[in-house]
Amino acid sequence: MENTKEMRAWLDDMGLDHPLVIAGPCSAETEEQVLRIAHELKDTDVNYYRAGIWKPRTRPGNFEGVGALGLKWLQKVKAETGMKTCTEVANAAHVKLALEHDIDLLWIGARSTVSPFIIQEIADALEGTDKIVLVKNPVNPDLSLWLGGIERLHKAGIKKLGAIHRGFSTYEKTKYRNIPEWQIAIEFQNKFPDIPLINDPSHITGNREMILDVSQTALDLNFDGLMIETHHDPDKAWSDAAQQVTPSKLVQIMRDLRIRKETDTETEYNIKLSNLRAQIDVIDNQLIETLGKRMKVSDGIGELKKQKNVAVLQSNRWNQILGAMILEGESKGLSEEFVLRMFKAIHQESINHQEKIVNS
Ligand code: PEP
Ligand code: MN
Repeated sequence: MENTKEMRAWLDDMGLDHPLVIAGPCSAETEEQVLRIAHELKDTDVNYYRAGIWKPRTRPGNFEGVGALGLKWLQKVKAETGMKTCTEVANAAHVKLALEHDIDLLWIGARSTVSPFIIQEIADALEGTDKIVLVKNPVNPDLSLWLGGIERLHKAGIKKLGAIHRGFSTYEKTKYRNIPEWQIAIEFQNKFPDIPLINDPSHITGNREMILDVSQTALDLNFDGLMIETHHDPDKAWSDAAQQVTPSKLVQIMRDLRIRKETDTETEYNIKLSNLRAQIDVIDNQLIETLGKRMKVSDGIGELKKQKNVAVLQSNRWNQILGAMILEGESKGLSEEFVLRMFKAIHQESINHQEKIVNS
Protein backbone atom coordinates (compact mmCIF):
# COMPACT_ATOMS: atom_id res chain seq x y z
CA MET A 1 0.00 0.00 0.00
CA GLU A 2 1.31 3.45 -0.88
CA ASN A 3 0.82 6.66 0.95
CA THR A 4 0.17 5.09 4.28
CA LYS A 5 1.19 8.32 6.05
CA GLU A 6 -2.01 10.04 4.93
CA MET A 7 -4.06 7.33 6.64
CA ARG A 8 -3.12 8.65 10.07
CA ALA A 9 -3.54 12.32 9.25
CA TRP A 10 -7.04 12.29 10.81
CA LEU A 11 -5.45 11.40 14.15
CA ASP A 12 -2.33 13.58 13.90
CA ASP A 13 -4.49 16.57 12.94
CA MET A 14 -6.36 16.24 16.24
CA GLY A 15 -3.09 17.28 17.98
CA LEU A 16 -3.94 15.33 21.13
CA ASP A 17 -1.61 15.36 24.13
CA HIS A 18 -2.97 11.99 25.27
CA PRO A 19 -3.91 8.76 23.51
CA LEU A 20 -7.11 8.84 21.47
CA VAL A 21 -10.01 7.76 23.69
CA ILE A 22 -13.19 6.14 22.43
CA ALA A 23 -15.70 5.43 25.19
CA GLY A 24 -19.37 4.75 25.71
CA PRO A 25 -21.59 1.76 26.33
CA CYS A 26 -21.25 -1.64 24.70
CA SER A 27 -24.85 -1.22 23.53
CA ALA A 28 -27.24 1.66 23.14
CA GLU A 29 -30.14 0.53 25.36
CA THR A 30 -32.48 3.48 25.73
CA GLU A 31 -32.36 7.12 24.68
CA GLU A 32 -32.04 8.13 28.32
CA GLN A 33 -29.12 5.75 28.92
CA VAL A 34 -27.24 6.89 25.79
CA LEU A 35 -27.63 10.58 26.67
CA ARG A 36 -26.88 10.12 30.36
CA ILE A 37 -23.55 8.39 29.74
CA ALA A 38 -22.66 10.92 27.04
CA HIS A 39 -23.24 13.85 29.40
CA GLU A 40 -21.11 12.16 32.07
CA LEU A 41 -18.27 11.74 29.53
CA LYS A 42 -18.60 15.17 27.98
CA ASP A 43 -15.88 17.04 29.85
CA THR A 44 -13.33 14.23 29.97
CA ASP A 45 -10.54 13.14 27.61
CA VAL A 46 -13.03 11.16 25.52
CA ASN A 47 -12.70 11.98 21.80
CA TYR A 48 -15.36 9.71 20.31
CA TYR A 49 -18.55 8.44 21.88
CA ARG A 50 -19.28 4.81 21.05
CA ALA A 51 -22.47 2.77 21.30
CA GLY A 52 -23.32 -0.50 19.57
CA ILE A 53 -26.62 -0.32 17.71
CA TRP A 54 -26.51 -3.67 15.91
CA LYS A 55 -25.03 -6.20 18.30
CA PRO A 56 -23.49 -9.36 16.91
CA ARG A 57 -24.09 -11.92 19.65
CA THR A 58 -22.46 -15.30 19.67
CA ARG A 59 -25.73 -17.06 20.58
CA PRO A 60 -29.20 -15.90 19.51
CA GLY A 61 -31.59 -14.84 22.21
CA ASN A 62 -29.34 -12.27 23.85
CA PHE A 63 -29.99 -8.56 23.36
CA GLU A 64 -29.23 -7.87 19.70
CA GLY A 65 -29.30 -4.10 19.72
CA VAL A 66 -31.94 -1.41 19.28
CA GLY A 67 -31.26 -1.02 15.56
CA ALA A 68 -31.52 2.14 13.48
CA LEU A 69 -33.49 3.94 16.20
CA GLY A 70 -30.25 4.23 18.19
CA LEU A 71 -28.67 6.32 15.42
CA LYS A 72 -31.09 9.12 16.26
CA TRP A 73 -29.93 8.97 19.88
CA LEU A 74 -26.31 9.30 18.73
CA GLN A 75 -27.28 12.34 16.67
CA LYS A 76 -28.76 13.80 19.85
CA VAL A 77 -25.51 13.05 21.69
CA LYS A 78 -23.62 15.11 19.12
CA ALA A 79 -26.14 17.95 19.23
CA GLU A 80 -26.23 18.12 23.04
CA THR A 81 -22.59 17.44 23.94
CA GLY A 82 -20.57 18.21 20.81
CA MET A 83 -18.92 14.79 21.08
CA LYS A 84 -18.17 12.92 17.89
CA THR A 85 -19.93 9.58 17.54
CA CYS A 86 -19.15 6.09 16.35
CA THR A 87 -20.79 2.71 15.95
CA GLU A 88 -20.19 -0.74 14.50
CA VAL A 89 -21.37 -1.55 10.99
CA ALA A 90 -21.64 -5.10 9.68
CA ASN A 91 -23.28 -4.79 6.25
CA ALA A 92 -24.08 -2.32 3.45
CA ALA A 93 -27.46 -1.39 4.96
CA HIS A 94 -25.80 -0.44 8.26
CA VAL A 95 -23.28 1.72 6.40
CA LYS A 96 -26.02 3.52 4.50
CA LEU A 97 -27.99 4.25 7.69
CA ALA A 98 -24.88 5.34 9.61
CA LEU A 99 -23.92 7.75 6.82
CA GLU A 100 -27.45 9.16 6.70
CA HIS A 101 -27.27 9.83 10.44
CA ASP A 102 -23.90 11.54 10.23
CA ILE A 103 -21.99 9.08 12.40
CA ASP A 104 -18.36 10.29 12.41
CA LEU A 105 -16.43 7.06 12.72
CA LEU A 106 -17.42 3.50 11.85
CA TRP A 107 -15.78 0.35 13.07
CA ILE A 108 -15.89 -3.15 11.70
CA GLY A 109 -16.35 -5.80 14.38
CA ALA A 110 -14.21 -8.86 15.00
CA ARG A 111 -16.90 -11.20 13.67
CA SER A 112 -16.99 -9.28 10.38
CA THR A 113 -13.23 -9.06 9.84
CA VAL A 114 -13.15 -12.86 9.53
CA SER A 115 -15.18 -12.62 6.32
CA PRO A 116 -13.65 -11.01 3.22
CA PHE A 117 -17.17 -11.04 1.68
CA ILE A 118 -18.54 -8.83 4.47
CA ILE A 119 -15.50 -6.55 4.43
CA GLN A 120 -15.83 -6.13 0.67
CA GLU A 121 -19.53 -5.35 0.97
CA ILE A 122 -18.81 -2.69 3.60
CA ALA A 123 -15.88 -1.28 1.60
CA ASP A 124 -18.08 -0.98 -1.52
CA ALA A 125 -20.83 0.75 0.48
CA LEU A 126 -18.27 3.25 1.83
CA GLU A 127 -16.77 4.16 -1.53
CA GLY A 128 -16.53 7.91 -2.00
CA THR A 129 -17.07 8.87 1.67
CA ASP A 130 -14.42 10.39 3.88
CA LYS A 131 -15.43 8.68 7.11
CA ILE A 132 -12.88 7.29 9.55
CA VAL A 133 -13.03 3.50 9.49
CA LEU A 134 -11.42 1.25 12.11
CA VAL A 135 -10.98 -2.47 11.59
CA LYS A 136 -11.04 -4.76 14.61
CA ASN A 137 -8.81 -7.82 14.50
CA PRO A 138 -10.65 -11.00 13.48
CA VAL A 139 -11.80 -13.27 16.32
CA ASN A 140 -9.23 -15.88 15.27
CA PRO A 141 -5.51 -15.10 15.52
CA ASP A 142 -4.96 -14.49 11.80
CA LEU A 143 -2.87 -11.46 10.92
CA SER A 144 -3.61 -11.75 7.18
CA LEU A 145 -7.37 -11.34 7.61
CA TRP A 146 -6.74 -8.18 9.63
CA LEU A 147 -4.30 -6.75 7.07
CA GLY A 148 -6.66 -7.83 4.27
CA GLY A 149 -9.51 -5.86 5.85
CA ILE A 150 -7.41 -2.70 5.88
CA GLU A 151 -6.28 -3.30 2.29
CA ARG A 152 -9.84 -3.77 0.99
CA LEU A 153 -10.94 -0.47 2.56
CA HIS A 154 -7.86 1.28 1.22
CA LYS A 155 -8.62 -0.02 -2.27
CA ALA A 156 -12.14 1.38 -1.97
CA GLY A 157 -10.55 4.83 -1.48
CA ILE A 158 -10.99 5.12 2.30
CA LYS A 159 -8.18 7.43 3.41
CA LYS A 160 -8.82 7.70 7.14
CA LEU A 161 -8.04 4.31 8.56
CA GLY A 162 -7.18 2.65 11.84
CA ALA A 163 -7.11 -0.74 13.53
CA ILE A 164 -8.46 -1.97 16.84
CA HIS A 165 -6.78 -4.77 18.76
CA ARG A 166 -9.49 -6.57 20.79
CA GLY A 167 -7.78 -9.91 21.43
CA PHE A 168 -8.44 -13.37 20.02
CA SER A 169 -10.67 -16.21 21.06
CA THR A 170 -9.29 -19.54 22.22
CA TYR A 171 -10.96 -22.78 23.15
CA GLU A 172 -8.72 -22.98 26.16
CA LYS A 173 -9.89 -21.00 29.20
CA THR A 174 -7.51 -18.19 30.16
CA LYS A 175 -7.72 -15.20 32.49
CA TYR A 176 -8.71 -13.14 29.45
CA ARG A 177 -12.01 -13.17 27.59
CA ASN A 178 -9.96 -12.83 24.39
CA ILE A 179 -6.22 -13.38 24.74
CA PRO A 180 -4.20 -10.37 23.57
CA GLU A 181 -1.51 -12.27 21.60
CA TRP A 182 0.49 -9.04 21.68
CA GLN A 183 2.98 -10.32 19.12
CA ILE A 184 0.23 -10.20 16.45
CA ALA A 185 -0.42 -6.54 17.24
CA ILE A 186 3.33 -5.91 17.08
CA GLU A 187 3.49 -7.62 13.68
CA PHE A 188 0.55 -5.50 12.54
CA GLN A 189 2.51 -2.37 13.56
CA ASN A 190 5.56 -3.62 11.70
CA LYS A 191 3.54 -4.17 8.50
CA PHE A 192 1.52 -0.95 8.69
CA PRO A 193 3.53 1.41 10.93
CA ASP A 194 1.50 4.48 9.93
CA ILE A 195 -1.95 3.10 10.64
CA PRO A 196 -3.23 4.18 14.06
CA LEU A 197 -3.58 1.21 16.37
CA ILE A 198 -6.13 1.35 19.15
CA ASN A 199 -6.42 -1.11 22.00
CA ASP A 200 -9.75 -2.42 23.28
CA PRO A 201 -8.99 -3.66 26.80
CA SER A 202 -12.71 -4.20 27.49
CA HIS A 203 -13.11 -7.08 25.04
CA ILE A 204 -9.62 -8.42 25.78
CA THR A 205 -10.20 -8.71 29.53
CA GLY A 206 -13.94 -9.20 29.83
CA ASN A 207 -13.35 -7.92 33.35
CA ARG A 208 -13.20 -4.31 34.50
CA GLU A 209 -10.50 -5.01 37.12
CA MET A 210 -7.89 -5.79 34.45
CA ILE A 211 -8.53 -2.83 32.15
CA LEU A 212 -5.84 -0.54 33.58
CA ASP A 213 -3.09 -3.17 33.26
CA VAL A 214 -3.92 -4.11 29.68
CA SER A 215 -4.22 -0.44 28.70
CA GLN A 216 -0.79 0.24 30.19
CA THR A 217 0.80 -2.60 28.22
CA ALA A 218 -0.80 -1.23 25.05
CA LEU A 219 0.58 2.27 25.65
CA ASP A 220 4.02 0.83 26.39
CA LEU A 221 3.81 -0.90 23.02
CA ASN A 222 3.16 2.48 21.33
CA PHE A 223 -0.56 2.06 20.69
CA ASP A 224 -2.25 5.29 19.59
CA GLY A 225 -5.44 5.00 21.58
CA LEU A 226 -7.93 3.08 23.69
CA MET A 227 -11.54 2.02 23.26
CA ILE A 228 -13.09 1.43 26.69
CA GLU A 229 -16.71 0.40 27.26
CA THR A 230 -18.32 2.78 29.73
CA HIS A 231 -21.77 2.65 31.34
CA HIS A 232 -23.38 4.69 34.15
CA ASP A 233 -24.54 1.45 35.83
CA PRO A 234 -22.25 -1.30 34.45
CA ASP A 235 -23.74 -4.19 36.40
CA LYS A 236 -27.13 -3.48 34.86
CA ALA A 237 -25.83 -3.19 31.28
CA TRP A 238 -27.78 -5.23 28.73
CA SER A 239 -24.55 -6.62 27.24
CA ASP A 240 -20.96 -7.11 28.44
CA ALA A 241 -21.82 -6.00 32.01
CA ALA A 242 -18.67 -7.42 33.68
CA GLN A 243 -16.25 -5.44 31.54
CA GLN A 244 -17.82 -1.98 31.54
CA VAL A 245 -16.59 0.83 33.81
CA THR A 246 -18.37 3.93 35.06
CA PRO A 247 -17.43 7.32 33.59
CA SER A 248 -15.65 8.27 36.82
CA LYS A 249 -13.68 5.03 36.79
CA LEU A 250 -12.67 5.80 33.19
CA VAL A 251 -11.35 9.18 34.29
CA GLN A 252 -9.41 7.45 37.07
CA ILE A 253 -7.92 4.94 34.61
CA MET A 254 -6.78 7.78 32.34
CA ARG A 255 -5.17 9.46 35.37
CA ASP A 256 -3.41 6.29 36.51
CA LEU A 257 -1.96 5.44 33.11
CA ARG A 258 1.65 6.33 32.52
CA ILE A 259 1.32 8.21 29.27
CA ARG A 260 4.55 8.78 27.45
CA LYS A 261 4.80 12.13 25.83
CA GLU A 262 7.35 12.79 23.14
CA THR A 263 8.97 15.74 24.85
CA ASP A 264 12.36 17.27 24.09
CA THR A 265 13.99 15.46 26.98
CA GLU A 266 12.71 12.11 25.77
CA THR A 267 14.93 11.17 22.91
CA GLU A 268 14.11 8.76 20.13
CA TYR A 269 16.50 6.39 21.85
CA ASN A 270 14.35 6.28 24.96
CA ILE A 271 11.17 5.75 23.01
CA LYS A 272 12.68 2.88 21.05
CA LEU A 273 14.16 1.39 24.19
CA SER A 274 10.91 1.35 26.11
CA ASN A 275 9.10 -0.11 23.10
CA LEU A 276 11.63 -2.94 22.84
CA ARG A 277 11.44 -3.52 26.59
CA ALA A 278 7.68 -3.82 26.40
CA GLN A 279 8.11 -6.43 23.66
CA ILE A 280 10.55 -8.34 25.87
CA ASP A 281 8.03 -8.26 28.74
CA VAL A 282 5.38 -9.77 26.48
CA ILE A 283 7.72 -12.55 25.36
CA ASP A 284 8.89 -13.28 28.93
CA ASN A 285 5.28 -13.71 30.00
CA GLN A 286 4.77 -16.12 27.13
CA LEU A 287 7.87 -18.06 28.21
CA ILE A 288 6.50 -18.52 31.71
CA GLU A 289 3.09 -19.45 30.33
CA THR A 290 4.68 -22.05 28.02
CA LEU A 291 6.88 -23.49 30.76
CA GLY A 292 3.81 -23.80 33.00
CA LYS A 293 2.01 -25.70 30.23
CA ARG A 294 5.01 -27.99 29.72
CA MET A 295 5.07 -28.77 33.42
CA LYS A 296 1.38 -29.70 33.40
CA VAL A 297 2.01 -32.20 30.58
CA SER A 298 5.00 -33.53 32.47
CA ASP A 299 2.78 -33.97 35.56
CA GLY A 300 0.49 -36.13 33.39
CA ILE A 301 3.48 -38.30 32.51
CA GLY A 302 4.30 -38.55 36.22
CA GLU A 303 0.76 -39.86 36.90
CA LEU A 304 1.18 -42.51 34.19
CA LYS A 305 4.58 -43.55 35.54
CA LYS A 306 3.06 -43.89 38.98
CA GLN A 307 0.27 -46.15 37.70
CA LYS A 308 2.75 -48.39 35.87
CA ASN A 309 5.38 -48.14 38.56
CA VAL A 310 8.00 -46.97 36.06
CA ALA A 311 11.19 -45.05 37.00
CA VAL A 312 10.94 -41.27 36.77
CA LEU A 313 14.24 -40.82 34.93
CA GLN A 314 14.24 -42.26 31.39
CA SER A 315 17.74 -41.44 30.07
CA ASN A 316 17.13 -42.43 26.44
CA ARG A 317 14.17 -40.15 26.08
CA TRP A 318 16.04 -37.32 27.74
CA ASN A 319 19.07 -37.63 25.43
CA GLN A 320 16.77 -37.54 22.40
CA ILE A 321 15.13 -34.32 23.60
CA LEU A 322 18.47 -32.68 24.27
CA GLY A 323 19.93 -33.61 20.87
CA ALA A 324 16.89 -32.29 19.03
CA MET A 325 16.77 -29.05 21.02
CA ILE A 326 20.49 -28.34 20.57
CA LEU A 327 20.01 -28.53 16.78
CA GLU A 328 16.85 -26.42 16.93
CA GLY A 329 18.65 -23.88 19.13
CA GLU A 330 21.57 -23.65 16.73
CA SER A 331 19.22 -22.71 13.91
CA LYS A 332 17.96 -19.82 16.08
CA GLY A 333 21.44 -18.59 17.00
CA LEU A 334 21.45 -20.09 20.52
CA SER A 335 24.68 -21.68 21.72
CA GLU A 336 24.83 -25.36 22.63
CA GLU A 337 25.97 -24.44 26.12
CA PHE A 338 22.97 -22.22 26.69
CA VAL A 339 20.45 -24.78 25.38
CA LEU A 340 22.03 -27.46 27.55
CA ARG A 341 21.91 -25.36 30.70
CA MET A 342 18.34 -24.25 30.07
CA PHE A 343 17.04 -27.75 29.38
CA LYS A 344 18.88 -29.20 32.34
CA ALA A 345 17.04 -26.73 34.54
CA ILE A 346 13.70 -27.54 32.91
CA HIS A 347 14.35 -31.25 33.14
CA GLN A 348 15.30 -30.98 36.81
CA GLU A 349 12.06 -29.15 37.58
CA SER A 350 10.12 -31.88 35.73
CA ILE A 351 11.87 -34.60 37.70
CA ASN A 352 11.11 -32.80 40.96
CA HIS A 353 7.44 -32.59 40.00
CA GLN A 354 7.25 -36.23 38.92
CA GLU A 355 9.08 -37.45 42.02
CA LYS A 356 6.44 -35.78 44.14
CA ILE A 357 3.65 -37.37 42.11
CA VAL A 358 5.17 -40.87 42.05
CA ASN A 359 5.74 -40.76 45.80
CA SER A 360 2.37 -39.30 46.69
C1 PEP B 1 -18.10 -4.21 20.62
O1 PEP B 1 -17.20 -3.37 20.44
O2 PEP B 1 -19.07 -4.02 21.36
C2 PEP B 1 -17.97 -5.53 19.99
C3 PEP B 1 -19.02 -6.29 19.70
O3 PEP B 1 -16.71 -5.86 19.81
P1 PEP B 1 -15.99 -7.10 19.06
O4 PEP B 1 -16.34 -6.96 17.61
O5 PEP B 1 -14.57 -6.80 19.37
O6 PEP B 1 -16.48 -8.36 19.70
MN1 MN C 1 -19.14 -5.14 23.96
